[in-house]
Amino acid sequence: MLRRTKIVATLGPATDDPKVIDEIIAAGVDVVRLNMSHGSHEDHARRAETVRNRARASGRQVGVLADMQGPKIRTARFKDDFVMLEEGAQFTLDATMDATSGDINGVGVTYPTLHEEVSRGDTLLLNDGHIVLWVEEVEGTAVRCKVTVGGKLSNNKGINKLGGGLSAPALTDKDREDIKFAASIEADYVAVSFVVSPDDVHEARKLLREAGGHGGIVSKIERAEALECIDEIIEASDVIMVARGDLGVEIGDAELPAVQKDLISKARQMNCVVITATQMMESMITSPIPTRAEVFDVANAVLDGTDAVMLSAETAAGNYPAKAIAAMDRVCKEAEKQAASRRSDHRLHTVFGRIDEAIAMATMYTANHLGVAAIASLTESGSTAKWMSRISSGIPIYALTPHVATRRKVTLFRGVYPVSFDVEGVGTQQANVEVIEELQRRGAVRDDDLVIITKGDLTGQSGGTNVMKILRVGEHILPG
Ligand code: PGA
Ligand code: MN
Repeated sequence: MLRRTKIVATLGPATDDPKVIDEIIAAGVDVVRLNMSHGSHEDHARRAETVRNRARASGRQVGVLADMQGPKIRTARFKDDFVMLEEGAQFTLDATMDATSGDINGVGVTYPTLHEEVSRGDTLLLNDGHIVLWVEEVEGTAVRCKVTVGGKLSNNKGINKLGGGLSAPALTDKDREDIKFAASIEADYVAVSFVVSPDDVHEARKLLREAGGHGGIVSKIERAEALECIDEIIEASDVIMVARGDLGVEIGDAELPAVQKDLISKARQMNCVVITATQMMESMITSPIPTRAEVFDVANAVLDGTDAVMLSAETAAGNYPAKAIAAMDRVCKEAEKQAASRRSDHRLHTVFGRIDEAIAMATMYTANHLGVAAIASLTESGSTAKWMSRISSGIPIYALTPHVATRRKVTLFRGVYPVSFDVEGVGTQQANVEVIEELQRRGAVRDDDLVIITKGDLTGQSGGTNVMKILRVGEHILPG
């Protein structure tokens, strides 16, 4: 059974062995995430290359998402990579401290103006709220705190101020450099952290295009302010991420479930793709099986209609990267049996803006109501397949394209599967035959099954889809 919901897995030290890369590909990873908050450009370039090489070797497509650090306050590094903080102890955060020499007394921070933006009485939450510090006093650049909730604190962990209130713009100087890097490795997606307005999204896209990058822009929804102009942000974005880690700290954890449902449904309505992220299988960092709560969380995101579910430290730094993906895989597939709808009211009352979009909608209406076995979309940019995948359906959508960038991009779309396919210069009749043969080879269709093919009169032209064709397998080879 094909899984419709896609799995994004973060790469890190735990996946650096090429054997582990093979394991996570075999377990079903669809997109890998390079977290620019950690590691060097060399690390990320090598990881992306290994994944693409190993994916090619096993006949798979895996997308690459480069995730910008953004203006996140993070701890710098510890001499021994981590410390154990005791409740009641003193702990100092200081932006001027050496970035690699943190210890039990304090650590550097990546945000030069932290001391200007916090004051006595503020609560700082570290590592998504696992560690809590209370600000006692600010002296020069030193923010002296008392540990109110202790535990293990390792390198480069996030710091949030309870209630929000970061003043920095979404794109930092480091992000600008990292966007150029993302273009240089042909990242399929670039994720912008702490987006507050559509301008952040436009600017990131402009920088990426200027650097020659073709990737889509992912807006990470993790600031309270972003929710106030969410329609404009979605409109500007190719993808949004429900970034529950930081968002939960900013708006409060209890608000998250409703906001997640809202964001997923809004994104789908507005033709945007959506990733649900953070702590989905958190316990699998150290455990080979997920908790029941995690199983329900992943399944609920699937039922909410998310395109993709994401793993962070579970795969980047955990003990069981492949098992975490395998767990998501089985939970998604089971949840999809519940979700597999052949009815949809989705966008029934909207006006379509384009011919190719109208073809995509007509295809899904027909596919769901006629009961076809598969949809084959001959596509240049992948947009037709994306529009199709906004409609709930249990029917697989194959995106057939000669372009590797398009094949990698559609790895994120729910229910869409990339296929390398070139019918340049092939006549219409022969193209239909080849499409169906390809679907038969994949076991997607059998004799007598119905198939819908969409394409443009002129292949090789983006946005040119204007034909929807229904064929019955076995009857598609006409004489002459
Ligand atoms: P991060 O983003 O892992 O880069 O912080 C995701 C989130 O905040 O949930
Ligand atoms: Mn975040």
